[in-house]
Amino acid sequence: MPLKVLIVDDDIVDRQRYLRFLSGDERNTFIVCEAATAEEGMRLLNEDLYDCVVLDYGLPDADGPAVLEFMRDGDGGPLRVPVVMTTGQGNESIAVEAMKLGVADYLRKDCLTGTEFVRAIAHAAERAHLRAALREKSQRLEQMNIELKRQTAEIQRFYHTVSHELKTPLTAAREFISLVIDGVAGPLACAEQLTYLGHAITACDMMARQVNDLLDAARLDCGKLQLNCEGVRVERAFAFAVAAVQQSLEAKGIHLSVDVEAGVPLVAADEARLVQIMANLMSNAVKYTGAGGNIAIEAQRRPGATDQVDIIVRDDGCGIASEHMEHIFDRLFQVPQGAGEINHGGLGLGLAIAKDLVERHHGQLTVESAVGAGTTFRFNLRAAAAAASDAAAAA
Ligand code: ADP
Repeated sequence: MPLKVLIVDDDIVDRQRYLRFLSGDERNTFIVCEAATAEEGMRLLNEDLYDCVVLDYGLPDADGPAVLEFMRDGDGGPLRVPVVMTTGQGNESIAVEAMKLGVADYLRKDCLTGTEFVRAIAHAAERAHLRAALREKSQRLEQMNIELKRQTAEIQRFYHTVSHELKTPLTAAREFISLVIDGVAGPLACAEQLTYLGHAITACDMMARQVNDLLDAARLDCGKLQLNCEGVRVERAFAFAVAAVQQSLEAKGIHLSVDVEAGVPLVAADEARLVQIMANLMSNAVKYTGAGGNIAIEAQRRPGATDQVDIIVRDDGCGIASEHMEHIFDRLFQVPQGAGEINHGGLGLGLAIAKDLVERHHGQLTVESAVGAGTTFRFNLRAAAAAASDAAAAA
C-alpha cells in the first residue's frame, strides 16, 4: 500500500529534494502532497488522512510546536498523525523539545541523506499503524470483556432466580408427601404406596441438593458466599458428613472407615462449608463405588508441615479415565456415560464447588485416580492455632 505523505516546508528546494528522495526509493511507494505554509498544511490535514507529515520547524507563518498543537487529539493528547520534524540548523535543544512534543523523528536538513529521510518516514508510519492496530485490538478486547461481564451477570441472575423459585415449591411438595407418609391425611391403603412416596421424597431431596448447588455456584461467582472460620474439630465435621450419606451407604452396602490421626489439631474452617466439601466428595464416592465397595475418610498432619492438616476421601470405585482428569473440577463437567450405565443425576457442580470452597480456605483440592482401581481426593486446611497467630501478626 502506498504511504501518503504531507510535506510542510516553505523552502521549495528542500521540498523538491524530499520528492526526489521519496520517488527514488525502491521499497516503498509514496503519494506526496505539499504545503508551503503552516496554514495550507493545516487545511490539507483537515481535508485528508496522511500516514506521515514532514514538518519544517521554522515556517514563516507559525513555528513547529504551534502546528503540532493543531494535530493533537484534544488538549495535550497524542498527535493524530506521525510527524517527522526537519530543521535547517542542528540545534540540540530543538531536537529535545520536538521529541518531547511527541514527534516520531527529528532530522537535520544540512546533513540529510535520502536513505535516512525515507527510513524515518517509513518507520514513523509503520509505528503509527502498529499503535493504531494495537489500540483497535485492545478496544475490541475491552468491548468483549464488557459483554462477557454482562452475560456472566445475566447467567448468575438466572441461576439465582431459578434456584430461588424452585426451592419454595420443592420444600412444600416434600412437606406434603411427608404428611401423607405420616398418615396425617388418612391411612395409606398398601405398603406399595409407602414405597412410592419414599421414592418421591428421595427425588425431592436430590433436587433440593441440586438447587442448593446452583445457589452456591451463583453465590461463589458474585462473592456473596461468606466464610465464618473458627477452630473446627475434624471428627465432628466428619460425623456430620457421614450422616449426610449414611442412607445411601447402607443402601449400597458400602463399607466406610474413618481414621483421624491422634493429635490432629483444630482446623481453621467454616464448619458448615467443611461438612459440605466432605459431603460432596463422599456422595460422589458413594455414587461411583459399586455395591459392597469401600470408602475411607482420613485426616492427618502433613509430614514436614505440622500447621497443615491433610484430609483424604478414598474409594475403590470405578475410577476416572486419564483423559477426563484435567476437566474434573470444571463447572458442569460430567464424565460422559456409556450406553447402559447408571445415570447418577447431578449437574456437574459438586467438585467445582468443593474446589472453590477449599481454595477459599487457602487450601488445595487434588485428585488421583485409576480406572477400575478407585479415586482419592485430598485437600489441606490450616491448623487453627497457626491461622490465628498469622492473623494476630498481620493485625
Ligand atoms: P456430579 O454432579 O456429576 O457428580 P461432580 O462435579 O461432583 O458432578 O463430578 C464431576 C464428575 O466427576 C462426575 O460426573 C463423575 O464422572 C466424576 N467423579 C467425581 N467423583 C468421582 C469418584 N469418586 N469416582 C469416579 N468418578 C468421579
